[in-house]
Amino acid sequence: MANNVAVSYEQLINWLRLIDESLIEQRAYLTELDAAIGDGDHGTNLARGGTASSAKVDAEQPEYIDDLFTLVGMTLVGTVGGASGPLYGTFFLRFATSVGHRQELTPGQLAEALEAGLGGIVDRGKPDLGDKTIYDAMEPAVRAFRAGIQAGDVASAARAAADAAATGRDATADLVARKGRASYLGDRSLGHIDPGAASTALMFDALATALA
Ligand code: ADP
Ligand code: MG
Repeated sequence: MANNVAVSYEQLINWLRLIDESLIEQRAYLTELDAAIGDGDHGTNLARGGTASSAKVDAEQPEYIDDLFTLVGMTLVGTVGGASGPLYGTFFLRFATSVGHRQELTPGQLAEALEAGLGGIVDRGKPDLGDKTIYDAMEPAVRAFRAGIQAGDVASAARAAADAAATGRDATADLVARKGRASYLGDRSLGHIDPGAASTALMFDALATALA
C-alpha cells in the first residue's frame, strides 16, 4: 500500500554524505572504467566534487532542502571538470528548484524532484536511451522510484530505483557509445560498462541506504 510518510532533511543530507563516501571509496573503480573508454578521470572528478560539496555544506549548513541542493549543484558545476560535473551539477540544481523552500518532502515531491533532475540531464547532455551514458542508469531508476511510491513506501521505492540503476549500468556494457568521449571509440566501446552509468548506480544505491 502506498504510504505518505515524509522524507526528512536529515535523510536527504545523509543521502549526500553516503554519495560522497561511496565516490571516495569507489574512486579507483570509476577511474578504471573511464580509463577503458574515456580519459580515466571520472573517479577523480567526482571524488573531488563530493569532497568539495561536503566541505561547503559543513561550512554553510543550509537549513532548507532547496538551499542544500543548490549549494551541492553549484559546487559540482564549479569544481568537477569534464562532462559529468555540469551534468550532475544540473541534476542537483533542478532538484533544488523543484523542491522549493522546505524541510521535508512527501514521497511525491521527492519523485518530482528526481524527475526534474533527470530533465536537467536531458537538457544539458541531450542523451537518448541506449547512448551509453548516465541516462541509461538514471532514467529507469527515476521511473522505478515513481512506480514504487505509487505501490508502496519510499524505502522500497528507493530500493527498486537502485536495482533499476544497477541493471541499467550493467546493460551499458552491451551498448556502443553515442555521446561523450567514449563515442570516439565506436564499436571499441562495446564490452565496457559506462563510468557515468556506474556513478549514477552508486548515487541511487546511496538513496536506498539513506531511505531504508
Ligand atoms: P569526460 O568525458 O569529460 O572526461 P567524465 O569522465 O567525468 O567526463 O564523465 C564521463 C561520463 O559522462 C560518461 O561515462 C557518460 O556517462 C557521461 N556523459 C558524457 N556525455 C554525456 C551526455 N551528452 N549526456 C549524458 N551523459 C554524458
Ligand atoms: Mg573522463
